[in-house]
Amino acid sequence: MVRIVQKYGGTSVGCVERIKHVANRIKRSKEEGHDLIIVVSAMGKSTDELVSLAEDLTDTPSKREMDMLLSTGEQVTISLLTMALQEIGIQAISLTGWQAGIKTEASHGNARITDIKTKRIEEELSQGKVVIVAGFQGISGSDITTLGRGGSDTTAVALAVALKAGRCDIYTDVTGVYTTDPRYVKKARKLHSISYDEMLEMANLGAGVLHPRAVEFAKNYDVPLMVASSIEDVVGTMIEEEVTMEQNLVVRGIAFENDVTKITIKGLPNQLNTLSKLFTALSENQVNVDIIIQNQYDDEHVNISFSITQSSLKETLAVLQGQQEELQFTDIYFEEDLAKVSIVGSGMVSNPGVAAQMFAVLAENEVFIKMVSTSEIKVSVVVEEADMVLAVEMLHNAFQLAEEVEEEVKVI
Ligand code: ASP
Ligand code: MG
Repeated sequence: MVRIVQKYGGTSVGCVERIKHVANRIKRSKEEGHDLIIVVSAMGKSTDELVSLAEDLTDTPSKREMDMLLSTGEQVTISLLTMALQEIGIQAISLTGWQAGIKTEASHGNARITDIKTKRIEEELSQGKVVIVAGFQGISGSDITTLGRGGSDTTAVALAVALKAGRCDIYTDVTGVYTTDPRYVKKARKLHSISYDEMLEMANLGAGVLHPRAVEFAKNYDVPLMVASSIEDVVGTMIEEEVTMEQNLVVRGIAFENDVTKITIKGLPNQLNTLSKLFTALSENQVNVDIIIQNQYDDEHVNISFSITQSSLKETLAVLQGQQEELQFTDIYFEEDLAKVSIVGSGMVSNPGVAAQMFAVLAENEVFIKMVSTSEIKVSVVVEEADMVLAVEMLHNAFQLAEEVEEEVKVI
């Protein structure tokens, strides 16, 4: 008998029929003799709907009340799924985050899990019940908190750690992790496995399959994750410590996202604290900055470019204009409708020339590169949004990601 945490995302429980389908899957696992803890998201797009209800009322909702509101979505799913299980003769019980003992830090809207008191879950499991837990929520003191959008994945991994589960299976509306988004690139191929670090880069770079914090958690506690479809019965993707390397795959995947805006500030004084003043002002106003480029053009002056999401443009310009006197720059320029395309793979560390190959492929296809950033296992470029899909397709071909790799080599 294995203890298993299974997580079902919003699409997988999007309507009563889907919930029944999930209940039947759970029944099969239960009949195989496993102890099951099930984590669910809110049905379909219901979290978005709750957000827009709040937006209809106010531009500045209290964070505490937002958590109170958004946490209801998951509560709907846990009760309905439990009823569906009881209906087919499976003993089950639903638990909200606080009933399941999920403690978080005191921040609303993006709280981290600090501790899980597993007593209640253990009691229910020992009575043979399937335990259905609301994802994405916890408690701090006596207040409900949420873990940030997409946070149910993190609930699942944290429970797997706390309950010493042998497996954590994330069931979703895709059949696994792909080399790139198959909705845009037809030749995208499902990966058999991917390392935590690669998955983390892919997740942070906008491949929406898994919540980055869930991957981080799984890596820190060495929990093998499986991403698979809740609808089709096909093999998914394993996310685990790098034990095998798919041969020749220097690049394992390509992530991309649009809605990138580039800001350029010209004529800043070339002083020790220029960068720190600028980025402190932005971060104090919750502007998230991604790629940063500094360029010195004479002894006294520097230009700085950085990228942000399109949605934070207004805020960013307001902050900068408010600080013009303090920062002493001459001009601000911005460029909208850009996209970021990133190649990811742990094999890059030991393979020089990957970035060069990427730039060559883009140049051959007349795709202009506006910004570049690199880490040990990724290279990101900012390009025109209109070039995004072409760039991804060309890179996917150039790095031979469409080809099935037959042999798996053990790296000892
Ligand atoms: N329902 C929440 C959201 O949509 C949490 C989740 O689905 O993981 O963000
Ligand atoms: Mg999700």
